Amino acid sequence: MSKQWQEIARNIKQIYDNKDFVPLHEPTFDEKEVEFVTDCIQTGWVSSVGKYVDEFEKRLAEYTGVKRAIAVVNGTAALHIALKIAGVQANDEVFMPALTFVATANATAYLNAIPHFVDVSEQTLGLDPVKLEEHIRDIGEMKSGQLFNKKTNRPIRAVVPMHTFGHPVDLDPLIDLCEQYNLVLVEDAAESLGSYYKGKHTGGFGLVGAISFNGNKIITTGGGGAILTNDEKLADYAKHITTTAKIPHPWEYRHDEIGYNYRMPNINAALGCAQIEKMDDFLAAKRQLTRIYQKLFEQIEGVKLFTEPTFGASNYWIQTIIIDPKKHNRDTVLGVLNDEGAMARPIWTSMHELITYMDCPKGDLSLINELNKKVISIPSTPMKGEVLK
Ligand SMILES: *Cc1c(COP(=O)(O)O)cnc(C)c1O
Repeated sequence: MSKQWQEIARNIKQIYDNKDFVPLHEPTFDEKEVEFVTDCIQTGWVSSVGKYVDEFEKRLAEYTGVKRAIAVVNGTAALHIALKIAGVQANDEVFMPALTFVATANATAYLNAIPHFVDVSEQTLGLDPVKLEEHIRDIGEMKSGQLFNKKTNRPIRAVVPMHTFGHPVDLDPLIDLCEQYNLVLVEDAAESLGSYYKGKHTGGFGLVGAISFNGNKIITTGGGGAILTNDEKLADYAKHITTTAKIPHPWEYRHDEIGYNYRMPNINAALGCAQIEKMDDFLAAKRQLTRIYQKLFEQIEGVKLFTEPTFGASNYWIQTIIIDPKKHNRDTVLGVLNDEGAMARPIWTSMHELITYMDCPKGDLSLINELNKKVISIPSTPMKGEVLK
């Protein structure tokens, strides 16, 4: 079995010009980024004021099809504020997949609210609407129009689906559940810039959405994030509290509530303006890589490349294989691939297993427990050059 995975590692490295070490995902830059960032340095506009922030916000809103985008320091901050302006308060519970990056739970905890974990679906690796509905029937109770958790007596305020590795979640049934149970939909679209659900860009389905531009995401601003919304009032409020809640005035410092210094610096937005122009190329390259990987893994028994659902288009941010644990041992596969220089990672430790969240309420998480032995992420950087032709 080791031999077979050594060969697979060699095949993966071939795709990347036989580099000694192929990371999971690295940023792709050219002269455009140099030009925009240099402009910031030469003009001195590197920090909290400058034209690139406004420009990046405009382009993001255009690209994602929402009315407004507010650029912030990172995706976690975007989620924090998204949940806050969606009305999540202390002692509220928030439904989310237990299989996610820790930021989804952390952003909830920052508001002294409580993550409530639900299983994911095999089709999307994202929140399972069927299991969520069963779970609500099991533990939920409507009291004067508000859903409560019967077991904890806490209100359940929101649902936060996350589009795992860029693959869109089945949103329609989740939207129906939100209507039925008076829950607010907040999308963790951190991984899904360039992903569509039934033809519409992810991140704009709920009241608010959040994106990340961390160094490993499909486009990067170094560190960065954005809040997406179609609600102009909420957008203005998000801008206000992410910029210290300062009342506009030519010289006075007056703040009307406890605000946050979450604004994206101009130099980071400059990177973003250069990066977002290349989304079409990145998406095409990622699809090309999907085809190459599909061919490679077709020939290997007990391994399947994870692909987009029929109802959506994925950005294929992180390429993922599903191994049959009866035929392949996860740790052997991870060991060989990493040793051979093709970076590979398991899926996140489920939130309900982290010391910080193990006491949180949860539904049946049987699929997540199984996926832990089966899901492996492999190199996913969009390639330039020959492979693309
Ligand atoms: C990357 C990511 C975030 C947070 O983004 P940062 O910019 O790293 O703070 C949130 N949720 C998910 C699912 C992510 O993958």
